[in-house]
Amino acid sequence: MGSELKCYINGAWVNANSGATMSVLNPSTGETVGVVPDCNAEDTSRAVAAAAEAFSTWSKTTGRARRDALVRLYNLVMANKESLAETIVKENGKPFKEALGEIDYGASYILWYAEEAQRIYGETIPALAENKRIIVIKQPIGVVGAITPWNYPLAMVTRKISAALATGCTIVLKPAEDTPLTALMFGQLMEQAELPRGVANIVTGQPDDIGKELMTNPLVRKITFTGSTDVGKLLMRGAAEHVQKISLELGGHAPFIVFDDADVDLAVEGAVVAKFKNAGQACVCGNRYYVHRQVYADFVSKLKKRVGMFRVGDGFDSTTDIGPLINREAVNKVERHVTDAVEHGAQLVMGGQRITCAPLQHGHFYEPTILDQVTPQMLISREETFGPILPLTAFDEEDEVIELANNTPYGLTAYFYTTNLSRAISVSERLEYGVVGINDSGPAVAYSAPFGGMKQSGLGREGGRQGLEEFLETKYLSIQL
Ligand code: ADP
Repeated sequence: MGSELKCYINGAWVNANSGATMSVLNPSTGETVGVVPDCNAEDTSRAVAAAAEAFSTWSKTTGRARRDALVRLYNLVMANKESLAETIVKENGKPFKEALGEIDYGASYILWYAEEAQRIYGETIPALAENKRIIVIKQPIGVVGAITPWNYPLAMVTRKISAALATGCTIVLKPAEDTPLTALMFGQLMEQAELPRGVANIVTGQPDDIGKELMTNPLVRKITFTGSTDVGKLLMRGAAEHVQKISLELGGHAPFIVFDDADVDLAVEGAVVAKFKNAGQACVCGNRYYVHRQVYADFVSKLKKRVGMFRVGDGFDSTTDIGPLINREAVNKVERHVTDAVEHGAQLVMGGQRITCAPLQHGHFYEPTILDQVTPQMLISREETFGPILPLTAFDEEDEVIELANNTPYGLTAYFYTTNLSRAISVSERLEYGVVGINDSGPAVAYSAPFGGMKQSGLGREGGRQGLEEFLETKYLSIQL
């Protein structure tokens, strides 16, 4: 059995008031890797009260002081890179090298927002009368409730916490129940960085009670959420009660388009990165691959070769490229999508089975899979799969493929490959997506850019200077001389 950890409320490490706990399992082995408090509304309310108390002083600190605190935190994260990455592998299953990459990525937000803390500018606006002046100031919203997913146990936490703290907000974080250990370890680093008590609190547990308290407690002025569109809608309804501000980073269903003028080798490399990172468990993963008929055969044969090189295994095995899915339901969903596609006429080019043989039989592993002749009616073309399945469709015309690409309620990330400059500009303008990768399979890693979705993929942006705005109120002062 793994270590027993506590929650972090008001600068102290505490159990849930009820004494309830829950186990965290390793998705590669099924073993328990930790036990954490299963907090309820009462615990959450204490955390919110602590954050509200801390807000009265933290919000008045200088940007320079907040910068210094965040830089201390950044340095601690980098100094503890290996042990943070090990914790991620234990509870999430991703390959260790990917976990190390996540630490760099997650830490990059802390450093970026540390610097941005000093650049929270207002403005002056010309007044309508000679004896008046108008000054616009920016102030932190207040206590933030943050809810994060399990697919990036550190980076989704740092992306929210560092922006909130940089503005002078305080925070109560509820990490995903599958991956709370990394968040709690990060909490220990926040303590070592000497963030004042109550500025950042972490409550672990099942989501319903904690979520309800965060939405109904009037001291919580802002909810920031990353997760499924269904839960996002639920939170948005809840936030309506107090007209809480809310940012949502929800599901995606990314089209990945390869035009006839694309560099096919580059596109193949991009296709596998966009699909198989994190075993396909990212909201930015490619979900529909549209390849021009003229380059289709070349693309598929190179893709097969490339995907055939992947090794599936335990994240601690240095030869592993693709780890397990997070839990049994995740494998069931992937299986459902593949079965539905095949029943409706898709061809299996590669893979298509869950892995049940030793030594992986206790984990949630699924073969990297390529499906051909996928149509828009199939479940896989409409719902986010969140698994290592790459569905292919051939197309002929630019207009046709743009219509296919936009034909979804989602609008987070889109990718396309072309060597034609005019097409690069015009297609990117027509795609209804918040992030567009043009000959680029990794557009979402830029901490300095505003990441977020259109349509049902979300509200608001994270990262960049726009990410700070989500935690700021705008107030104008009208002064008569
Ligand atoms: P996924 O399906 O990818 O697990 P979820 O949206 O269920 O995505 O989970 C993302 C985060 O939302 C997790 O921290 C989870 O605990 C939380 N969550 C799930 N249901 C609720 C809820 N009813 N209220 C608040 N948070 C929730």
